[in-house]
Amino acid sequence: MSRPVEIVLVYQSLLGIYGDRGNAMVLLKRLEWRGIDATLTIVEPGEPLPATGSVYLLGGGEDAAQISAVRELKADGNLFRGLENGAALFAVCAGYQICGQTFTVGERDEVIEGLGLLDVTTRRGTERAVGEILTRWQRPDGSETLITGFENHGGFTYLGQGATPLAQVELGIGNADDGTEGAVQGRVIGTYPHGPVLARNAALADHVLEVALERTLEPLPRPEVDELHRQRVAFVRRQGLRA
Ligand code: GLN
Repeated sequence: MSRPVEIVLVYQSLLGIYGDRGNAMVLLKRLEWRGIDATLTIVEPGEPLPATGSVYLLGGGEDAAQISAVRELKADGNLFRGLENGAALFAVCAGYQICGQTFTVGERDEVIEGLGLLDVTTRRGTERAVGEILTRWQRPDGSETLITGFENHGGFTYLGQGATPLAQVELGIGNADDGTEGAVQGRVIGTYPHGPVLARNAALADHVLEVALERTLEPLPRPEVDELHRQRVAFVRRQGLRA
C-alpha cells in the first residue's frame, strides 16, 4: 500500500500571520474528497522537519520572522532533503521571498541571503502592494485560469534566468512592476496572494498536488468551490474598475 500524502505546515509561529495555514486544510480536504490518504505534520522552529513530506507549505509573515525562518530551515536541512526526495514546495509571500537568493528587510534594507530554491531576488518596492489581485495562470495543459487573492507586501520580487513567472497580472501588483506574479522552478512554487489562495483557487490547489504526486488527478467538481471562485473574480474586477 502506498504511503499517505504528507502535508507539512512549516513554522506557523513565524510564517502564520496571514491565515495561509488554510492552504494545508484545502490540500487535505481535496485529497480526502478523492479518497487519497493524507496526513498533516505541523512543525515549529526548533523541531525537525520531516524529510518525507510530499508538500511543504510556507506562509506570510513579518520581516524579522523571515530572518528566523531562513536560519532555522538552513540549520534543519530537511526541507532541502524533502525536495531532493521529490516533494513540492508551495510558498506564499514572506515564504516566497525567503525561497529566493536574497531579500531585504527593514528601513535600512538589510540584505538577507535566502534559501536559494528560487532564482529570484526581493527588495523594497516603490510602494506597498496592498489589495485584491487578479492574475492569469496558464495551466500545464495550456488552458488559462484566473487566480484571485489578497496581496500585502513591501518587497518587490525580480526573477532571474532560472525561474519562470507563475502568472500574469490583470489587476494588482504581483512581483513588481513587470506584470508578472510568482515564480516556479522545478517543484517549487512561490506566489504573493493570501486568501488562503488555495481556498480561493481550487485549480491551483490541485496543481500543487499534481506536482507532488507526479500524476494527473481526476477533476473534482464542487459547485460551492466554483461559486466562490466566480464571486471573488467578479469582486476584484468590480474593485479594479473603481480604482
Ligand atoms: N515582510 C514581507 C513584505 O512586506 C512579506 C509580507 C507578507 O508575508 N505578507 O514584503
